[in-house]
Amino acid sequence: MAGRIYLDYNATAPLRPEAKSVMAGCLGAPHNASSLHSFGRQGRDLLETAREQVASLVGASAGQVIFNSGATEANNTVLRHFDGQRILVSAVEHPSVLGPAAGSVHIGVNADGVLDLHALEDLLKEDKTALVSVMMVNNETGVIQPVKESAALAKRYGALFHTDAVQAAGRLPIDIAALGADFLTLSSHKIGGPQGAGALVLGLCAVTPVLLKGGGQEKYARAGTENVAAIAGFGAAAQAAQARMEEFHALAKSRDRLERELHKIRDIVIYGQNAPRVANTTLFSLPGLSSETLLMALDLEHIAVSNGAACSSGKVEPSAVLKAMGVPDKEAKGALRVSMGWDTKPEDIDGFLDAWQKIIRRLNQKMKETKD
Ligand code: PMP
Repeated sequence: MAGRIYLDYNATAPLRPEAKSVMAGCLGAPHNASSLHSFGRQGRDLLETAREQVASLVGASAGQVIFNSGATEANNTVLRHFDGQRILVSAVEHPSVLGPAAGSVHIGVNADGVLDLHALEDLLKEDKTALVSVMMVNNETGVIQPVKESAALAKRYGALFHTDAVQAAGRLPIDIAALGADFLTLSSHKIGGPQGAGALVLGLCAVTPVLLKGGGQEKYARAGTENVAAIAGFGAAAQAAQARMEEFHALAKSRDRLERELHKIRDIVIYGQNAPRVANTTLFSLPGLSSETLLMALDLEHIAVSNGAACSSGKVEPSAVLKAMGVPDKEAKGALRVSMGWDTKPEDIDGFLDAWQKIIRRLNQKMKETKD
């Protein structure tokens, strides 16, 4: 990434050196963790070390962790277990929750993107609910949701509770028991592990949802040969993320400086600014401009950011999260997300601001010319 500035950590983070190193030691080895020979036992040891590391990140014990291919699978595993039953999900969930919960009822958020707890309680009173799913931190805005309060309400009305903690892991202290979550979703590549690994962490409800059947791996909870190298990398990343959480919190200084300077350069709208947010994320828009234009202009300056929601299909739709927050489509189409992470330095923000200033100056010039 020499000469380039990467500010899209909420989409995926660069691999941490700790993860790279443990993975390099695994690649090429025939680690089938179910085999009884020495290679298999080595694979098993790597898996169990990673299980301890991932469990520790969320205050769980190793036995509660089920490894899988990532958060999309974990979310599908939980939501599809409740097919045909009443499910409540926040309106700002990731598509990997909204997709498998297609028949669910959405819980609204306020203008800052924070879940409306009164609306949740009203919905719980309305009818018997099997599952409530509320993410810990929103991937677009970085807004922290009242998950503990939501879990307590779900319990009070006899529902189980799931939280997608993908964007909270390594960013906020997590204790699954204190949160009261029955199911918690994690993804490796958001914390500096490799892509293609994740976990479903079980709480205390004694329900184990199973999506993939046909093998005894993960104590029959997830069939299929484990991706030992990726899971070992996930474990190492979890350990590093936990040990370095203070460094993550220190990013708030860069984030606040970025937002102050952006306001000075030109009037922008920052979403979720009045809500509690994690330290690394700024979602903003320049009314009247398309995010694609800005994204490409920044890319030409070797700066990688995202336009609100990553467009996994290549098609850019206005963000559903901003829609749920009441932002008009026209404005939402201009939203850009800057997200920092473990390898972001204050100089990266300087570089971003220099490029931004240049781009805005050019746009102002163009506007002046068309007026003249
Ligand atoms: N949930 C959230 C909140 C996310 O941000 C993402 C990744 N964009 C996912 C789930 C999906 O994660 P994965 O790539 O591991 O499937």
